[in-house]
Amino acid sequence: MNVGVLALQGAYHAHVRTLRSLGVSATEIRKPADLDGLSGVILPGGESTTMSMLLDSSGLRQPLTELGNSGVAMLGTCAGLIMLASRIADGRDDQLPLGLLDVDVQRNGYGRQLDSFECELDVDINGMQRMHGVFIRAPKITRIGQGVRVLAALDGIPVLVEHGVCLGASFHPELGNSTLVHRHFLQLAEASAPATTPPLTHLGSR
Ligand code: GLN
Repeated sequence: MNVGVLALQGAYHAHVRTLRSLGVSATEIRKPADLDGLSGVILPGGESTTMSMLLDSSGLRQPLTELGNSGVAMLGTCAGLIMLASRIADGRDDQLPLGLLDVDVQRNGYGRQLDSFECELDVDINGMQRMHGVFIRAPKITRIGQGVRVLAALDGIPVLVEHGVCLGASFHPELGNSTLVHRHFLQLAEASAPATTPPLTHLGSR
């Protein structure tokens, strides 16, 4: 199974490292041809206004949207969640989301750089599990669509959501000490992968 990480800008490297630490082959996505044969795509944190512009100039916006609509698993973290969303509040006028995950988000909804914070989260993946959440100029989820499942919340506000094979996190799971979200994502990716892909039997728990 090959998983892609959008590598136009931002915090993609920690995702690539996490995937490789789990024994999964990771492709850095910079152009449409990099999408070939992927079973899942991670959209990392970074700066969503720049990411939106680069999606257009790289020609990736349309093929990436088609890939998501075709049922390939997607994980968006922080700016990546903003890109997956249906609607963005406090974005730039020319900033367009992909509309692959039916949530609305408010950019920098938890405040700006000085308001970045870390906390423990109870995550509903294979029972309740605790993990560390790193929030950096994080987007706030202000609406979830029908069928969107909340896997973790903070003060009653969703911070990790799932709809079908699409996952979105307000925080940076790649910067904590747990691979829980990535392992869950890989299971979704495996479910959406071509039938010829061998099952992931080697994913331990950490
Ligand atoms: N505030 C950033 C944005 O709007 C996201 C920050 C992040 O990804 N850590 O894109």
